[in-house]
Amino acid sequence: MAEGLRIEGLTAGYAGIAAVRDVSLTVAPGEVVALLGPNGAGKSTTLLSAIGALAPMGGRVLFDGQDITGRTPDAVSRLGLALVPDSRGIFFDLTVRDHFRLAAPKGDKAAVEAMLDRFGALRGLMDRRAGLLSGGEQQMLALAKAFVTKPSVLMVDEMSLGLAPLIVQSLMPIMRRAAEEEGMGILLVEQHIEMALKVADRGIVLNRGAVRFEGPARELLTNRADVEASYMAR
Ligand code: ATP
Repeated sequence: MAEGLRIEGLTAGYAGIAAVRDVSLTVAPGEVVALLGPNGAGKSTTLLSAIGALAPMGGRVLFDGQDITGRTPDAVSRLGLALVPDSRGIFFDLTVRDHFRLAAPKGDKAAVEAMLDRFGALRGLMDRRAGLLSGGEQQMLALAKAFVTKPSVLMVDEMSLGLAPLIVQSLMPIMRRAAEEEGMGILLVEQHIEMALKVADRGIVLNRGAVRFEGPARELLTNRADVEASYMAR
């Protein structure tokens, strides 16, 4: 059954030292969740553990009710859980078309067409090498590449990294639409608190490896003082 992503009591880190402790969160189908928090809070560590790139030291990762803790990133992505990393995973020497060939399961033309409807700016750039795209176009390609695999839950790590706010603002509604029209669950890691909360249903603030604050996005938007205070929590 489609239940989405459920992280339960996750403890994870590097070389035996925990960077996140006892973190629990859920992303239901059709829901946009903003994962906020200062640098080094543990946001990427949480995402990497969910996708199976980092072995948890404790806790469980469930996807559609199935325990996927410790599975490989390949196995996890085949189940429908995808990550767009902050490094974007783009090959500068390959064209936009090449990226879709690699990403689309067995040349799924319909999936590529649906994706081009969504990321219209890429349509005229199919034969351009990714290294020659602008920062915004590269981010669009990174998102589009994930979309053609039709994930049921998509995690996006700092989509806004290095991008002008106006470009980020144009990408946010695409996330909202995917949630509403396709029932995709979306976990957005963001530094732009307000932009993320405006498209999200819920927000979660991580700081120093633990969840410090969470609630409906609308409440977090009107309650900025508490959100900011949770960024300072020691
Ligand atoms: P940012 O917004 O800066 O990316 P983040 O919230 O994603 O921050 P993480 O990248 O998860 O934070 O980092 C959490 C902690 O783990 C930090 O203290 C960081 O220094 C540490 N850390 C991250 N990656 C590694 C690594 N490969 N080896 C050792 N420590 C790491």
